[in-house]
Amino acid sequence: MTNNIIFKDPDSLLRFTLKDGQARVLMVRTTRAAQGAADIHQASDTCIAAMGRVLPICAMMGGLIKEEAGRLTVTIDGDGAGGRITCGVQANKLKISVENPQAELPMTPDDRLDVAGFVGSKGQIVVVKDYDKGEPFASVSRLVSGELGEDFAHYFTVSEQVPSLVALGCLNQDGVVLSSGGILIQAMPGCTDQVITDLENRIPFFANISREIYDRSLRQLAEAWFQDFDPLFLGEEPIELKCDCSREKMRRALVALGKEELEEIRDANEPAVLTCHFCRAQRSFDTEEISEILKENRP
Ligand SMILES: [Zn+2]
Repeated sequence: MTNNIIFKDPDSLLRFTLKDGQARVLMVRTTRAAQGAADIHQASDTCIAAMGRVLPICAMMGGLIKEEAGRLTVTIDGDGAGGRITCGVQANKLKISVENPQAELPMTPDDRLDVAGFVGSKGQIVVVKDYDKGEPFASVSRLVSGELGEDFAHYFTVSEQVPSLVALGCLNQDGVVLSSGGILIQAMPGCTDQVITDLENRIPFFANISREIYDRSLRQLAEAWFQDFDPLFLGEEPIELKCDCSREKMRRALVALGKEELEEIRDANEPAVLTCHFCRAQRSFDTEEISEILKENRP
């Protein structure tokens, strides 16, 4: 379905700083990733709108992790119709799963897809950063509105103590994603109140970010929006939806089930078919292989 996309460049993440490093900015386009996720999960339009906001924030938060091996997982556990949303990123490769991707809701009174109803306004955001050494680091904040932009701005301010502006958006209809993306602006230590105020005054520029990035490059937009903030561009990197699952990982998941459950599967004498929640890839393990796993893991 990607041939519906007007903007032909691949998805990407743009980094820059403003006013001699007083603020750092990440901007991302995740249009293709959102379309990929929509197709994989055969998602409802409201689900696509939610995923089209979660993917860009996850991509940008992943972009803040400096270690190449660093992995970030965002779980949004709200009381909405969609259930739990999980999004992971490592080295600019995204994956996303939604508990009830087909759940659909009526349009809101102002004729928008009801993302807040899908996500829920009560619940929490859990962010886990795993640097592949030592214990993973988890932080939690509560949902504010379920619209996601506000919720993540709250997360940064409360859980990471970094004053942040966040705008996320997805433009989609009838299973087709026209644009998905976001912007994250963070005040760095030493940022003056004046710069913070000036940046806050820019919010209307990117309040409708999905429409803005629909047909323009991130760089063009950044130059138009922040011309008088002396933007220093640090680079633009490709971003894509690509699951990191493997047969080996699924085998480990089987081991984790424990002896009793594995014996039950073996005795049923039918292949165990495991489906990845993120990319829906299916992998089958026959009785012989289950017996092997049991032998290998005998205490
Ligand atoms: Zn997968």
